[in-house]
Amino acid sequence: MRAVQVSEHGGPEVLALVDVPEPEPGPGELLVDVSAAGVNFIDTYQRSGLYPMELPYVAGMEGAGRVRAVGAGTAGFGVGDRVAWTEQLGSYAEAVVVPADKVVAVPDAVSDDHAVGALLQGMTAHFLVHDTFPVSPGDTVLVTAAAGGVGLLLTQMATARGARVIGTVSTAEKEELAREAGAAEVIRYTEVDDLAAAVRAATDGEGVAAAFDSVGATTFDSSLASLRRRGMLVLYGAASGPVPPVDPQRLNAQGSVFLTRPKLFDHIVGTEALRARAAAVYAQVADGTLAVRIGHRYALAEAATAHTDLESRRTTGKLLLMP
Ligand code: NDP
Repeated sequence: MRAVQVSEHGGPEVLALVDVPEPEPGPGELLVDVSAAGVNFIDTYQRSGLYPMELPYVAGMEGAGRVRAVGAGTAGFGVGDRVAWTEQLGSYAEAVVVPADKVVAVPDAVSDDHAVGALLQGMTAHFLVHDTFPVSPGDTVLVTAAAGGVGLLLTQMATARGARVIGTVSTAEKEELAREAGAAEVIRYTEVDDLAAAVRAATDGEGVAAAFDSVGATTFDSSLASLRRRGMLVLYGAASGPVPPVDPQRLNAQGSVFLTRPKLFDHIVGTEALRARAAAVYAQVADGTLAVRIGHRYALAEAATAHTDLESRRTTGKLLLMP
């Protein structure tokens, strides 16, 4: 079968479409035909070596598809079941073997594309607004890259919980998408000299209760300076590069603020927690309260183009590889 393999860390060009042996499900495992694989920013960190990987590996940690074969001890699963998963299992491929305890069921009302679009990024948005900083009505929050994969979902979820969202984006097209997702204010951070001053101006000088920052290196300082007294900086990504070490005294100087650096996999520990969070997100997709935007679909052979597009800020919403 065909799969996208990385044999050395580097730029998008190291993503190579190769023939690999068809995998077989062992005990407790399912063989799934991949109908859509998710492209996530973490795939670029793994490819570049920012998050070092054991080489070679098949890229991709998210997908949805149909069960083709079941291993022993997988009671409750059958051929043809629709499932989705988010684990580093090599989903940029025609088929993948997934441990049965790592899959979530995809409801009839949710398409495979949307099941992928709402899984890793949807569960991330979900834990950020429910667990990391439980957003309440009346809170004003900052969302960077508000037209991105996580950004659009986070903006919708924070708005649905009653928050006023200030989004940051780089282009007019992205501004429109962020507004459609519910952002009350949108700042094109590529066009302002002082982002924190713009955020303060939009909050009567007070600052935001929480800044959800996925951009990292280039926005960290402005996100910190945008916080109100005892606000929280939720740094959850590094799209522009990692943030250098921070002196804790800066948190004091900013007004007793909080800094956290959370990740999804600490919020879906165990099958029950994974399935409960996925089901909560999929219920919102099914009833129409959460819109999933598929920004672009690429063939497996175009994986390098997908990474190039994602890293050059050309994309919006979710990117999919279609085996
Ligand atoms: P996005 O679709 O959000 O793409 C990244 C966006 O970041 C770009 O479109 C761009 O939006 C913005 N950006 C700003 N500066 C840069 C830069 N120098 N290079 C590239 N992009 C830049 O990606 P995802 O939704 O997949 O992921 C968003 C972030 O969330 C990533 O940092 C990812 O690591 C993180 N994440 C963290 C998780 C966690 O558990 N902590 C889980 C999932 C994702 P614009 O042009 O508008 O600035």
